[in-house]
Amino acid sequence: MNDRLLRAVEDRRDEVVALTRDLIRFPTVNPPGEAYTPCAEWIAGYLRRRRFDTQLIRGEGAPGDTDRYPRTNVVARREGRGPGPVVHFNSHIDVVEAGDGWTVDPFEGVVKHGRVYGRGACDMKGGMAASMIAVEAFLAVYPDFPGAIEISGTVDEESGGFGGVAHLARMGLFSKPRVDHVIIPEPLNKDRICLGHRGVWWAEIETKGEIAHGSMPFLGDCAVRHMGAVLEAFEDQLFPALDAKRTEMPVVPEGARRSTMNINSIHGGQTEDYRPGLPSPNVPDWCRMTIDRRFLLEERIDEVKGEVTAILDRLARERPKFRYAIRDVMEVLPTMTERDAPVVTAIADGIRQIFEKEPDYVISPGTYDQKHVARIGHLHDCIAYGPGILDLAHRPDEWVGIDDMVESAKVMAIGLDALLRGPKG
Ligand SMILES: [Zn+2]
Repeated sequence: MNDRLLRAVEDRRDEVVALTRDLIRFPTVNPPGEAYTPCAEWIAGYLRRRRFDTQLIRGEGAPGDTDRYPRTNVVARREGRGPGPVVHFNSHIDVVEAGDGWTVDPFEGVVKHGRVYGRGACDMKGGMAASMIAVEAFLAVYPDFPGAIEISGTVDEESGGFGGVAHLARMGLFSKPRVDHVIIPEPLNKDRICLGHRGVWWAEIETKGEIAHGSMPFLGDCAVRHMGAVLEAFEDQLFPALDAKRTEMPVVPEGARRSTMNINSIHGGQTEDYRPGLPSPNVPDWCRMTIDRRFLLEERIDEVKGEVTAILDRLARERPKFRYAIRDVMEVLPTMTERDAPVVTAIADGIRQIFEKEPDYVISPGTYDQKHVARIGHLHDCIAYGPGILDLAHRPDEWVGIDDMVESAKVMAIGLDALLRGPKG
């Protein structure tokens, strides 16, 4: 064990708490994207004092980017002495709305019972703070390290990451040779390594009808009834088929270790704007449904889409007057970093040293910013590893354990050491 490095982390216990509280006090709620700029500027100032070069980069033109709510990211880099690999710690600074049910102020950073409470404590300002003290400890012990270290605070992860990591990746900031290894301290539990995520396909299906007076529906054609036929076919055919598709990906929780689909919304006919008045009697001439299909490494996206369109095409053949349209809303391919990738083995070694156990390797049921690193940056040495407890994310009284932050910072410091100065023992 590298006692000097671990002691240097331990010495920063108070600092990781202070840092987490400072970050929580910026109410970086997304949407709409509050307080991004002051938060990014504060992080830049903190890292400049530690001799990082810092840059603020606005995700210009990204969804939600306005002068009132600029998508401000911070990227910081410290060069080592001489050539070597580049390790990048990426954290999102945005948080979801606080919501109801809190017993403490969600933006105060209350410390009690060995925990820091607040919106984003777990997801993922605590993880960001842990990675920052891991880096500081490493720099204190090895000021003459080879290569470079980068730390970024990026926006909009909670809404897809388009003004954040996607924007930076398009600028080449998540590609070789600029960066070699990426660690994202998302809350996946301190003894687990998250290798990637399942794929996503969102689509909007529209059935078409013909408007008529509601007292004579036979003169029109009801788009909602056509959509009912779609739902019935999904129940009979699609859902059982998806349920039967199991994956070798170690997705957690266990229930997500297969294909799933959610129906996000369904709307047909006139909207409910007439409330509190009365509706008018119309046969709906349109009905739209948004589906959220999560798929596996074992599935190809064209097959995933083909399963749905095959059902719609069958209905078009068999059901009188059935007409439909389908539109892609979003697609993200599944990604899984190899278990023998350098960043995985480096962090795995840290987990073995600190927790004296083998790490669990997991896959996230939903996506996170790794998708942009893989797809746009073409960088596949990327994982999520951080201190927070996954189940606490987005909930009231969200917290992060102080011991968990310190221990995961030790794991990250050991991993950083292995990646930059070569594996030990
Ligand atoms: Zn997160």
